[in-house]
Amino acid sequence: MIYLDNAATTKPNKDVLDTFLKVNESLYFNPNSPHQAGLQAEQLLQQTKSQIKSLFNIKNEYDILFTSGATESNNIAIKGIARKKKDSANEIITSLLEHPSVLEVVRALEDEGFVIKYVDVTSEGKINLDHLEELMSDRVALVTCMHVNNIMGQIQPIKEVANIVHQYPKAHLHVDAVQAIGKVDLIFEGVDTLSLSGHKFNGLKGQGVLFVRNVHQLETIVHGGGQEFGVRSGTVNLPIDIAIVKAMKHAVTHTEQLFKQLLQFNNDLRQFLNQFSGVKINSPQDAASHILNVGFPGVKGEVLVNAFSKRDVMLSTTSACSSKKASLNEVLLSMNIPAKCIEGSIRISMGANTTETDINQFKQNFTEVYEEVRELLQ
Ligand code: PLP
Repeated sequence: MIYLDNAATTKPNKDVLDTFLKVNESLYFNPNSPHQAGLQAEQLLQQTKSQIKSLFNIKNEYDILFTSGATESNNIAIKGIARKKKDSANEIITSLLEHPSVLEVVRALEDEGFVIKYVDVTSEGKINLDHLEELMSDRVALVTCMHVNNIMGQIQPIKEVANIVHQYPKAHLHVDAVQAIGKVDLIFEGVDTLSLSGHKFNGLKGQGVLFVRNVHQLETIVHGGGQEFGVRSGTVNLPIDIAIVKAMKHAVTHTEQLFKQLLQFNNDLRQFLNQFSGVKINSPQDAASHILNVGFPGVKGEVLVNAFSKRDVMLSTTSACSSKKASLNEVLLSMNIPAKCIEGSIRISMGANTTETDINQFKQNFTEVYEEVRELLQ
């Protein structure tokens, strides 16, 4: 099988699986238990968080919460901050580029009285910084801006966004960095909360991280026994959290190397695809190297995904979550990509396990699929 759907999920690294099993066998204790074994687990939990802070060089600037994934991390950050600030500021700025685990949360907050403003997007898929400046005011509680887009791969100017947001002391900046870790250097400067999901960087599903500059800025989201600073109760899954550090270390220390390797594949694919008339590359040239979005105007994306799938090549239409929805993808729409091209777009996403052989085999299969759909192309 040729797996080119790494933006949806990745294969767990062997040492991650080994660690998960080992810790489950030997250190399955509850960090909240008052006995010695519980205390040992608690110590390990704190050590794990310290290791993560050292890895990103963020020392004590952030509190770390373990969650079940980025969907939960985004929910906790956005609802937690917004609700805490509601009496002093009730506007939220976001963009149509965001993942549903941000957009749908923000939309749900509208029912709680928040005013949502959408910042314009450039044709390159970046936040329009001039428009962001226009939208900012003392009424803004929160701005959300993803690091790397999951459908097109474009990288957002996080530092510039942070500089604008922090001219307003009440405003908080949340960054969804799910598609950034291991693919580009993570930017923490000026970022108040940042979320990650373990399975996107060769860790495990059901594991997430939320970095918070000051956890007291967050209102409680999951009520219960008071774990994770009382913000997200529930017994901590220590084995998965310890295991994820293995994946994180690997991702962070190999970022540059992987970026370059995937850039070679990406450039190679771009050159190859450009030879086929009617095929259009949607991802901007300066996007992250692991995602390449390609349009086939006149053909349905699902038809293409099925044609590749039959040949044992796994890729998606837009994203795993939205590919089953019938509506046109909002991210592509916000970039003014024509409807025909959106309907016929596929996402090729690579990762640490992608090889040159995968790329070459994809190319062979592509030629066959192209012949099948060629007459439909407009
Ligand atoms: N944010 C982005 C940019 C994503 O790509 C995803 C997953 O596709 C998520 C958030 C949600 O992650 P999870 O499904 O692991 O909770």
